Amino acid sequence: MTTQNELTVRYGAAVMNTFGTPRLVLAKGEGATVWDADGNEYLDLLGGIAVNLLGHAHPALIEAVTQQLGTLGHVSNFFTSGPQVELAERLLALLGQDGRVFLSNSGTEANEAAFKITRRTGRTHVVATEGGFHGRTMGALALTSKAAYRDPFAPLPGDVTFVPYGDAAALEAAVTDQTAAVVLEPIQGEAGVNVPPSDYLARVREITSRHGALMWLDEIQTGVGRTGRWFAHQHPGLAPEPVTPDLITLAKGLGGGLPIGATIALGAAGDLLQPGQHGTTFGGNPVATAAALAVLRVAEEESLLARAEALGERLRAGLADPRVSEVRGLGLLIGLDLAQERSAEVAAAALGAGFIINNPTPHRIRLAPPLVLTDAQADRFLAAWPGILDQAGLEA
Ligand SMILES: *Cc1c(COP(=O)(O)O)cnc(C)c1O
Repeated sequence: MTTQNELTVRYGAAVMNTFGTPRLVLAKGEGATVWDADGNEYLDLLGGIAVNLLGHAHPALIEAVTQQLGTLGHVSNFFTSGPQVELAERLLALLGQDGRVFLSNSGTEANEAAFKITRRTGRTHVVATEGGFHGRTMGALALTSKAAYRDPFAPLPGDVTFVPYGDAAALEAAVTDQTAAVVLEPIQGEAGVNVPPSDYLARVREITSRHGALMWLDEIQTGVGRTGRWFAHQHPGLAPEPVTPDLITLAKGLGGGLPIGATIALGAAGDLLQPGQHGTTFGGNPVATAAALAVLRVAEEESLLARAEALGERLRAGLADPRVSEVRGLGLLIGLDLAQERSAEVAAAALGAGFIINNPTPHRIRLAPPLVLTDAQADRFLAAWPGILDQAGLEA
């Protein structure tokens, strides 16, 4: 038995069965490359689902975490530390806005804090979007439309209306003077990379402002450079004129692999949560915040936003194929539609050829590689792409 087979069997007996059988047992990573427990090599074009912005084992991240852990690891929230304060300041500076930041440990937790902030408006109605994904805790799940995720856990916190994504008229019809907030992703990630019309975010801002509702952007997947801007809502493809939301939630890429979430409330929204109304033991801890600061610093020093933009264009152009009906996305968040519902076969064929990609729906493929992916690595995947589609039995 290989090490990988053995660990998979032991996983099946000891780890709770929430994810099905793992496709690989991974043992090591460097940059955009990972190795499984049997020593096979893969190019990681999913990046831990849009998390590993700096790839694996980036020296600056190792240095920042090691140095911080050797100096001060965890303190309770009776105290603060330099990295916590610096990270909050840095995030606000990247937004160019005044506001306040609540730090937590995951995406769903960042959204729980934002959800609680919306309740502090004195209103309870929230409008969310069909196909949107906001996490698996009860509050975040209440804002997530997918029936398979929701139904086993009903009843969820209520007063949520779902509207078609990208449809400003539907939003207009759903938002009233009793609406606390509208929550949406600037690009829907888990749905397979849905990019809304370029006037959508501006329309959302206009409608929410008119009704006194908060505009909440879930940038957990799209934030921190993924789309070629620090935040997707700063991308001219999504907002030709600047749009300023009230709430922004971040997680995935922010810690470069360390668990961290951030709820950013701009302007007056920053004062809605008052002392004693929310908390977390680990949130804002020095190690996770030092990691996030390192990610932001390296992204700047290594011009990773420009890289995401350029590499994204290169990949999108190269993925075009008669068997691909559409390629979408901004920067290194890329989705494509296959001519047939064979995404599982395509992902399996890619894995067999040494490439990790994702099949979020039966006819869609998603890529969210590390921003440190090299041109040569991208080209290697593009050269293999037609053969992967052949192997998966795709037809034009
Ligand atoms: C992944 C994701 C979440 C949930 O984040 P977790 O860290 O898994 O809890 C929420 N919103 C969006 C847009 C995501 O992509």
